[in-house]
Amino acid sequence: AATKTFGIEKSVWVEFIQLALEVKPLNLGQGFPDFAAPITVRKALAEASTSETNVLLNQYTRGFGHPRLVAAVAKLYSKLVGREINPQTEVLVTAGAYEGLFATIMGLVNPGDEVIIIEPFFDCYVPQVKLAGGTPVYIPLRPKKTEGITSSGDWVLDPMELANAFTDKTKAIVVNTPNNPLGKVYTEGELTMIADLCKKHNSIAIMDEVYEWMTYSGTKHVRMATLPGMWERTVSIGSAGKTFSVTGWKIGWVYGPANLLKGPQVIHQHSVYTCSTPIQEAVAQGFEIEMERFGKPECYFLSLPAELEVKRDNIVRILADAGLNPIVPEGGYFILADVRNITSKIDVGGDPSERKDFRFVKWLSRNRKLQGIPPSAFYSPEHGEIGENYIRFCFIKEDENLEKAGEILRALK
Ligand code: PMP
Ligand code: GLN
Repeated sequence: AATKTFGIEKSVWVEFIQLALEVKPLNLGQGFPDFAAPITVRKALAEASTSETNVLLNQYTRGFGHPRLVAAVAKLYSKLVGREINPQTEVLVTAGAYEGLFATIMGLVNPGDEVIIIEPFFDCYVPQVKLAGGTPVYIPLRPKKTEGITSSGDWVLDPMELANAFTDKTKAIVVNTPNNPLGKVYTEGELTMIADLCKKHNSIAIMDEVYEWMTYSGTKHVRMATLPGMWERTVSIGSAGKTFSVTGWKIGWVYGPANLLKGPQVIHQHSVYTCSTPIQEAVAQGFEIEMERFGKPECYFLSLPAELEVKRDNIVRILADAGLNPIVPEGGYFILADVRNITSKIDVGGDPSERKDFRFVKWLSRNRKLQGIPPSAFYSPEHGEIGENYIRFCFIKEDENLEKAGEILRALK
């Protein structure tokens, strides 16, 4: 293998998806719904691929994004960020948000640049920054409280620590709001603090906003691109997989000012070049339908979080009943629970050189047929300890599956 791949071989997804295939556990690991996606987009896909009048929907489409989809994305986000977004130059469609992040990081980061990554982080940011020749600079969210049931809002950045992470080499900061795995939704105040540092150090904000529609009572998703002076220095990333509950479709988008999209476009054009046409057509139609009923309760952007908030409350209760203090997420569809009440009582075995949470998650999967994800995977080696006492569960699952998980966990009490 090429030397650039050395040191980034491991992936929590490869390891734990393989384990799930072997063990066939109740799977609250990888984040995907175990119920049907909205019929609107599924029908649109069926129609796009079977249309007799528009057979070209099964052929290549425009490389930077299918015209109907970039038009829909530009229209929706123009409204959300309060400025006219050019669908030709300010939107790039990618193979999931994953490729959106990759194209953004590869297209904007030079060797020697520093990129600030807030912990816990979606794991792919780090290998992507390294492949670009950049240096990740880590800064952890720290809990104000650790006892009892807490909120993701209790996890905050230390303003001094954040300010000190910025240097004259800081090309970008990656911010994931709502956050995976913690569920933290950054407040306007927190984003402003980050924005001020970006302006001071001439850095770019790379915003991973794939869970933008999933925020719960009392919490509002704020887009960095709407803050004063930030459109010019922000690249925002979204995902059809998350927006329409179709994670297997792997379509994402990047939007931002044309000068910041240039590099990402070049990376995309020489790697993926163009994404699936019928799926882009279906996502475009999905957006058109939701824009028609925007703000109404039946709009999927409101009905999905309403449905998820009930699940969030259920899993909080289920975990609390099992003696695992959860961190109540303000957004997203993951929850962290403190597993010390279980791990203090059982010997999970495993390779002692591995972190406790990795060993516990494997034990739970193999011995109790319940799968989660070890949170230390979302930390740098220096801060992995912060995640070690937790497990991440995904709660965009049928209620009966959440209840079954509760039974398994309560039996360990
Ligand atoms: N960012 C975060 C925070 C995610 O949780 C995911 C889910 N895999 C992605 C990016 C990638 O999204 P996609 O499935 O659209 O590639
Ligand atoms: N975002 C999902 C999760 O965090 C899926 C991860 C992935 O596809 N690699 O579980």
